[in-house]
Amino acid sequence: MMLSDGTQAPLPPRAVASLTIDGRSVRSRQRLHALLTLLLPLAGTLFAAHDLVTRGPRTLELALLVSMYSVTMMGVDVGYHRLFSHRSFKAHPWLRALLAVCGSMAAQGPVVYWSSNHRLHHARSDTVEDLHSPHVDSEGERHGMLAGLWHAHVGWMFEHEPANPLRLAKDLLRDTTLMWINQHYSTWVLLGLVLPAAAGGLAEGSWQGAWSGLVWGGLTRMFLVQHATFAGNSFCHYFGTRPYPTEDGSTNNLLLVLPTFGGAMHNTHHAFPSSAFVGFKWWHCDIGGGLIRLFGTCGLATDIKAPSPGARQHPEPGSP
Ligand SMILES: [Zn+2]
Ligand SMILES: [Zn+2]
Repeated sequence: MMLSDGTQAPLPPRAVASLTIDGRSVRSRQRLHALLTLLLPLAGTLFAAHDLVTRGPRTLELALLVSMYSVTMMGVDVGYHRLFSHRSFKAHPWLRALLAVCGSMAAQGPVVYWSSNHRLHHARSDTVEDLHSPHVDSEGERHGMLAGLWHAHVGWMFEHEPANPLRLAKDLLRDTTLMWINQHYSTWVLLGLVLPAAAGGLAEGSWQGAWSGLVWGGLTRMFLVQHATFAGNSFCHYFGTRPYPTEDGSTNNLLLVLPTFGGAMHNTHHAFPSSAFVGFKWWHCDIGGGLIRLFGTCGLATDIKAPSPGARQHPEPGSP
């Protein structure tokens, strides 16, 4: 997997100075990872859809889907995004490790790779240097709507150079526990498939139960979490409202706030990128923010950042 740690052979001087890594093998690994993690969950989801039509909904399968979706979306939204990419709060060491593992189970890449890419997105949002703008590509060409949405959603993984963590995520590279989790990324992805399979098998006492757990709590869950997350890059830079006049094309999309745990309040997030909260009204469904508040109440999260009611009228200085 690309960028799985910071201990491999030193990068050439040009790459160290660059915001992205221009390496054929890194890009090949990014493409292979994208291909596997897009196609296998898609196959599982088609199988689950066939099951649903022929056998109807089953409580165990839906319970595994919802529980595993919640755990891994928490890992991506609260862990990968708000904690590791934006440092919007500080987490107790074991909560920090748990969030990194749960985020890894979503199969969107190791935490350092994901966070580096996301920090580059904020630093260069909707410019030629953005990895996944639906509006403009790395050649400076303006996309048509469908081509742009495809590029921002998944296409960029097959085309763009990944971000350079030596420029963008030195703080994460210095965290030895996080780097250990980062290096064992494949293990966590497999764990995210084995756990629901084991739960399904034990609950039904059969291999059929294990297969159902794998398909619903593993692959279908992975498919849904992926595309909910990717919608933040595509639809939430295209469709919705823009209450804050940020310099990018980010939007708030209320249709997507529930499955993204509030992440679809993307214009608010671009206006206040260091805030642990992205929804300021109950209907913004900021589930991720609610979880951080809960962790704070339990003493597991501190230094939780939030704009004051007065500051909410204006974007953070320098926010993209
Ligand atoms: Zn964005
Ligand atoms: Zn962000």
